[in-house]
Amino acid sequence: MTDPTAANAPSSAADPAADATTAPVVFGSVAASVSANLTVPKRVLAIGAHPDDVEFGCGATLAKWACAGAVVHHLICTDGSKGTWDAQQNPAELVMMRQQEQRAAAAALGATGEVVFLGWTDGELDSGLRQRWEVAYWIRRLRPDVVIGHDPWKRYRLHPDHRHAGLLTVEGIVAARDPLFFPEQNLEHHRPTALLLYEADEADHVEDVTGFAGTKLAALFAHTSQFRSTMKIEDTDAGEQRQIFTARIVARLGQHGAIKGFTHGEAFKLIAQL
Ligand SMILES: [Zn+2]
Repeated sequence: MTDPTAANAPSSAADPAADATTAPVVFGSVAASVSANLTVPKRVLAIGAHPDDVEFGCGATLAKWACAGAVVHHLICTDGSKGTWDAQQNPAELVMMRQQEQRAAAAALGATGEVVFLGWTDGELDSGLRQRWEVAYWIRRLRPDVVIGHDPWKRYRLHPDHRHAGLLTVEGIVAARDPLFFPEQNLEHHRPTALLLYEADEADHVEDVTGFAGTKLAALFAHTSQFRSTMKIEDTDAGEQRQIFTARIVARLGQHGAIKGFTHGEAFKLIAQL
């Protein structure tokens, strides 16, 4: 992901946190009735289009649940091979680097589950049957109580990978929950109890993540290849740019938390009828 507000941002990017310090409403709208704090799940599967999306979208919530004993799994749909502003960057090296960063980020969150890379080419993710098959496979195999992913119905979203990853999350659940879908997988069908969508077009659920801002930031800072393009932190930064990024993330947590009176929160669309 990179910052869409930057004039020369490449096409493979969108950082929903970019304007958090100035925008009166973070993104989307807030439903009239807002719930808070799911029961801590035993197993969680967080799905992102690129390495770092999960940490931006729900890192503090995952950290909170991991701290409370949940097994947190990551499923990353693309290889992240376009996540740079450096035209000389070797894509294969970038893919390896970003996988290592994603594993480090998961560890920073306290996640003890699997970190799965589907490996579709960055910028070219589709939400077709083959991709849905793979997502359903991992839902059936990892058997999460809660699945978290991009909101595919967020209005005016530009990045196709985020939209397709969101659709795959929703459609993967439908395929995983019903036994006659993909019987050749030879896996028991599995119906999660809740789906949370981050970057929600209309948020109606907030997780209180007070105390986990630092953990979310530590996980974001594990994505070192994204410092320049996504976080606006140059190699030459003496700490000021890092502080600005930190303030931006903390401000967003504050805005989300304020919806329910929490110091820090992460807001989602909750779908509990699966
Ligand atoms: Zn992304």
